[in-house]
Order: sequence, then C-alpha cells, then structure tokens
Amino acid sequence: MASLIFLGTAGSSAVTTKQLRSSGGIILQVDDLQFHLDPGPGALNKAKEYGVNLHHNTAVLVTSHHLNHCNDLNAVIEAMTHSGIEQRGILLASKPVVHSVDHHHPFLTTYHQGLLERIIPLEKDHKVGIELVEINTLSAEHTDPYALGFKFFCPKFTLSYSGDTALTSQLVTEMAGSDILILNVPYPGNKSAGLNLDTDAAIKIISQVKPKLAIMTHFGLEMLKADPLMEAREVQRITNVQTIAAYDGLKIATEGFGQLKSNVRGYS
Ligand SMILES: [Zn+2]
Repeated sequence: MASLIFLGTAGSSAVTTKQLRSSGGIILQVDDLQFHLDPGPGALNKAKEYGVNLHHNTAVLVTSHHLNHCNDLNAVIEAMTHSGIEQRGILLASKPVVHSVDHHHPFLTTYHQGLLERIIPLEKDHKVGIELVEINTLSAEHTDPYALGFKFFCPKFTLSYSGDTALTSQLVTEMAGSDILILNVPYPGNKSAGLNLDTDAAIKIISQVKPKLAIMTHFGLEMLKADPLMEAREVQRITNVQTIAAYDGLKIATEGFGQLKSNVRGYS
C-alpha cells in the first residue's frame, strides 16, 4: 500500500499566515514507511484532522529553511519520538535547518537533535537509502540557496517532489523517469517573476518528464485567485498528463501509477 496525504497546500507567506490553505506538509506512506515532507505551521493539527499518526513517521524531510516548510519540525519530532521516550526517526534536511549557516539560527533545537536516531544534512546530489526506498536530492534554484527537492525510488513507483525552485534544464533531467510529480507552483500562468514555478513552467516540466500523474501544490495568493483547479485543467489539456490541483486533506493511492520494477535500485 502506498499513498499520499496533503496536510497543507499553502505556498507563500501570505497564504500561510492567513491560513487560506493549511501548511502541514505532505505525507508519503510506502508500506509501513511514512515520510513527512516539509512540516510547516499546523502539521500536528492537520495530521490529527486527516487521520495521520505522526508517531509512525520513519523520516522527516525538509527542503528549505523557510518557515512554511519547517516551522513545526521540532513538534513533529516530539510526536515521532513520544517526547524522547523512544530515540527514533531520521531527519533529512536542507543544511540551514540543522546547522547555523550564514548566521541564521537553525530550526532544529539541540534538544530535538538528541531525540532523533539519525540526522542527515543534505548536500547536492545526495543519495540516502531507507529500507527499500532510495531518496535522491533534486537540484533547486530558489531564494533559499540551500533549497532542494527529493526523488523517491520506491519499489513500485518513482516520485519526485520539486520543493521550491525555478525551472531549470538540470531539474527536468533529474526528474526523468518519475511516475508521479509533485510540483510547488505558487504562481498561475506566466506570473512568476522570481525563482519559483508558475503554471507555464509546470507545463514545460510535465510535458518533458511525462509522468503518469502530476500534482500541483504550494499555492500563493495569485494562484488561489486564478483557481488552482482551472490551472491544473489547463496543464492537463496541454500536456495530456493527468494533473491534479492538491487541496488540504487530499489523499491519493499511488500504487496504480507505477510499474513493478524487476529489481530495486541499489542504495547507499
Ligand atoms: Zn515555499
């Protein structure tokens, strides 16, 4: 069994602080493994509301030290470890989340560091194996220079999560072979002036990577005004790839979107 559960779909400071969409991150369940991506504000509330037990998290993965990606990291670690009664769980995170970089205070407290079984500050081109799942980092170009994305090689499907980034040819190359694409698309149309994706960029990525399913999430104010549902329909019309606009509480069974691989890729 494998599924995705969206604990939030907010993609800008305004949308997060007003909670126009929630911001608790994304849960990926693969058999008995549970990965929690980008636990922003509200992760505990939304997990409870959508029936996710955060004590079952195998790993927390953080793509950026921006608040809407990691604000609830320490709280989620407490939930994972029953406040330290069990030392367990893995953290894979963009470096400034874990260490002080460029004089920024890291989000992870020293106390919560001690509750985890393993902490992996991520470099470019990092590969980590967690049981039968291999996780590779994806490159990103964002206002946070340490931002990155993740590609999950699961036994039955491959899933890429862009994190926050602009469109680059390197990213498209790295995403090749993904059955499922989750793209952070804060802006509609061609409205992204900066280092983020807009719908036009999503169309370019999806038409080149050709996944079986594309999911747009991480919406900013302009995207909400344009209506993510309409934007996703337009993406699907142009790319011919099934495309969904995520909403808070969206749950997707991912089994049907992969192909059974004859052998699991080697991992390190
Ligand atoms: Zn973001």
